[in-house]
Parts: sequence; structure tokens; C-alpha cells
Amino acid sequence: MTRPLIISDCDGVLLDFADPFTAYLASEHGLTLSLTSFALAGNIRDANGEAIAPERFPALLDGFFTTHMPTQTPVAGAAAALATLARDCDVVILTNIADHHAAVRTGELARVGMPYRVYGNNGPKGGPIKALLDEFQPSAAVFIDDLPPHHSSAKKHVPHVHRLHMVAEAPLRHLIPSAIDADARIDHWPDALAHIQAVLKGNAA
Ligand SMILES: [Mg+2]
Repeated sequence: MTRPLIISDCDGVLLDFADPFTAYLASEHGLTLSLTSFALAGNIRDANGEAIAPERFPALLDGFFTTHMPTQTPVAGAAAALATLARDCDVVILTNIADHHAAVRTGELARVGMPYRVYGNNGPKGGPIKALLDEFQPSAAVFIDDLPPHHSSAKKHVPHVHRLHMVAEAPLRHLIPSAIDADARIDHWPDALAHIQAVLKGNAA
């Protein structure tokens, strides 16, 4: 008898990203990140107020994950909600991060009470979700992510997977567009837990 599968994003869903990344840019690079639009790269400025070249962004992000991942703090309620779900479900983390960072992330998540398998990914998540369904053969599946394009990709590749749009970081809520291809939008884990449990019981509102 197979179990349901919970597939959760990490940054912005399980761990805070915006504030720790902003602090890293300031302390390590003298750069300022102003969260005034959804495009992270275009909002990073140097001491003269000049936007950095977009080509610099991947290295800055890689540097953050290399040295500052431990500064990412858990989202309120995430660990408790996943622990509750893990009693009856398999729980995996699907995060857009290089494989060597995924290994570190596995340890970091476990350290803050989320000891689940971490799958590193690059790009849209619909295909990787399909691969997870092939591997786990779950009775049902729920996908949680803060970025709308991943919900569109999931809808395209695995339309039967329930898609929950969660923007757990308050500073990003007014910047990230609504995910038109998600089934629900819930930003807080206690509410999300009740919703997911209802979905898995087949009686979601
Ligand atoms: Mg995310």
C-alpha cells in the first residue's frame, strides 16, 4: 500500500531566503538588495546605487549557498506541519540548488527538524515531479512552492498533483504574482497543514 507524497520547495517555503540573502549581500559584498519587484537580480545595487550586471547574480547566489546556508532560519510551523504529515506520507524536498549544495541542505534541514530527502534541481519542476511520482508511486501527491512558474510546469506535466502556492516570507508576498495554475494559495503552515490533510482525505474546500 503506497502512501501519499508531499513534495515541498525549500527557499521561501521551509527556510527563509530573502532576509538572509540580503544580509549576505551586504556583509560579504557591500551590495544592497531592495525588494521592490519580483526580479531579484535587477534589484541588487552597489555602493553607488548602480544595479549589478545580471551575469554576477549566479555567482552571488552560489556564494550564499556555499558559506551562508546556515544563516537561513526555518519558516514558522514548517517543521511541525511536515512532521505531522510524515506520519502518513512520504515527504521530499525539491529545491533548485546544485547537487553539492543539496547535500549540505539535507543536513541543514535535519538540524532544524526537517530530516527529509532533498532533491537538487535546475529549472522547471514539472519533469522532476513526474520522476518522483514514478519513483514513489504514491496514492496521491501534493506540491508546495512559492514560485508561480513551477506550478505552471507541474500543471503541464502532472496535472493530477495538488498544487499549493505558498509565499511564506512576508516581504515577498506583495512581489510574487498569484500562481494562476495553482489549486490553492495559503501562506502559513498551520493553515496549509489542515488544507493538505483535507486534500488527502478527498474533502478539500
Ligand atoms: Mg522557493
